[in-house]
Amino acid sequence: MKLSIKYFLPTIFLLIGIGLYTRTKPPYSVQHNDIQTFVVVGSSASGQSVINELSSLIKKGTVSSKSRIIWISADKNAPYKRTNLADYIVDQKNLSRNKNQQSFISYHFNTRITSINKNSKNIELDNGQTVAYDKLFLGLGTTPLTLNIPGINTKGVSQYFTLEDVATIKERLHLGRPIRAVVLGSGLCSIECADALNKCGASVTVVTKSNNLLNRKISPQDATYIENAMIKSGVRYHRNATITQVIEKNNNITGVLLSDKTELPADLLVYAIGAKFNSSIAKNAGLTLLNEGILVNDYLCTSDPHIYAAGDCVVLKDRITGSLVHSEKWNDAKDQGVIAARAMAGLLVNPYEGTVICSLTKAFGIRFVFSVPLNNPESYDVVIREEKDGSYYKLFFQDKKLKGFFCFNIPVTKILTLRKALIDQKELTPDSLIDSSFLNDTFTIIT
Ligand SMILES: Cc1cc2nc3c(=O)[nH]c(=O)nc-3n(C[C@H](O)[C@H](O)[C@H](O)COP(=O)(O)OP(=O)(O)OC[C@H]3O[C@@H](n4cnc5c(N)ncnc54)[C@H](O)[C@@H]3O)c2cc1C
Repeated sequence: MKLSIKYFLPTIFLLIGIGLYTRTKPPYSVQHNDIQTFVVVGSSASGQSVINELSSLIKKGTVSSKSRIIWISADKNAPYKRTNLADYIVDQKNLSRNKNQQSFISYHFNTRITSINKNSKNIELDNGQTVAYDKLFLGLGTTPLTLNIPGINTKGVSQYFTLEDVATIKERLHLGRPIRAVVLGSGLCSIECADALNKCGASVTVVTKSNNLLNRKISPQDATYIENAMIKSGVRYHRNATITQVIEKNNNITGVLLSDKTELPADLLVYAIGAKFNSSIAKNAGLTLLNEGILVNDYLCTSDPHIYAAGDCVVLKDRITGSLVHSEKWNDAKDQGVIAARAMAGLLVNPYEGTVICSLTKAFGIRFVFSVPLNNPESYDVVIREEKDGSYYKLFFQDKKLKGFFCFNIPVTKILTLRKALIDQKELTPDSLIDSSFLNDTFTIIT
């Protein structure tokens, strides 16, 4: 018994030490002139950022010019910015950017990885090819949930997630008459899409299964500010119902049937009802997952030292609370991509400071911003202030420190101030926060 305790305790301390080390230090270091094969999977925020950073390191000579990048993505299109999809509906902007054409990058778009073999350091593709890597980056993101109802494959039904979805939506907008659109979902994507369709002259109805918009993020009372702005802009709102059937004629949508038996005429149904993490390939490879996201350390390294991940598929540190959370913002994915690329290249990098879950949207002519989650709302001191100009502040404090907010119709300068206060975690009074602006120039907005 004595003997086992003698060896047991040092072993535990050693394991804790290794754990702390892997969270606080880059997992290992390589010579910069090593020739490496970097395989980057995903061409959205995090993938684009990794490619840009690795390309720049190779061009500068920081990483051997003989290194190769193999860029694989399920996307058919050249990389684009998902956050601009609404602009593409309204402004006819061409969102596709040119691929980062470099002689050291080989492109495999419209191609999926199907498995990772971390022992032999290679991946399998859906075209049967096997690709070897020295370092692998996973920017796999999420996949939108599908609606399994009769008629869902009818022409005129679309999700709202990719450039192809937007192309389908735009096709409908050009029917030659004002169209009737139904948007299903209570989240930011639905709000953004309803606003864009409304701007294009469509007659829009938003349908939510919940009693209010953004029901997973803000209180019903706060949601009324957004709902009123939406209704004022001409969009109708049908709450507490979901869609049970798409009604069609000659395989073209003519309406939708709701769970409360209402029938809405429609030429277009767009739905955005949530997403699931693309982590099953990582899971099957034996990488550590937490809450279905790929767990990464402060250097975006997974539980395998040769595999990195970033963006919406990962779970990592929240900058404010320090707890492990899902990443869900474009600019956060981009920042993570830079650190991942540098760490993959074996450079000494500053650790990732953590994600900041703060959502800013402009829709129906109004800007609103919120920072969640707020666990145990009753444990906060809540300050509410409504100004004469229609701006609304709801601030959550704990020990005189700002812990969260929902604000409606407030200037960008105030949003920056609030976000900075959230990150700084200094003691302050609500009045000083609302009435003054302690901005610094280097601070940029993250939407
Ligand atoms: C409509 C919409 C609007 C948004 N607006 C905002 C906003 O205003 N502000 C904001 O901060 N965030 C916004 N977001 C969220 C933001 O877009 C995401 O945080 C960001 O796109 C995450 O990037 P990512 O690199 O993790 O991957 P994703 O954007 O999820 O893309 C995943 C990539 O991986 C590829 N992939 C997946 N599986 C495979 C596979 N097996 N093999 C090969 N490739 C694969 C896909 O093809 C894709 O290229 C919005 C999201 C949507 C859908």
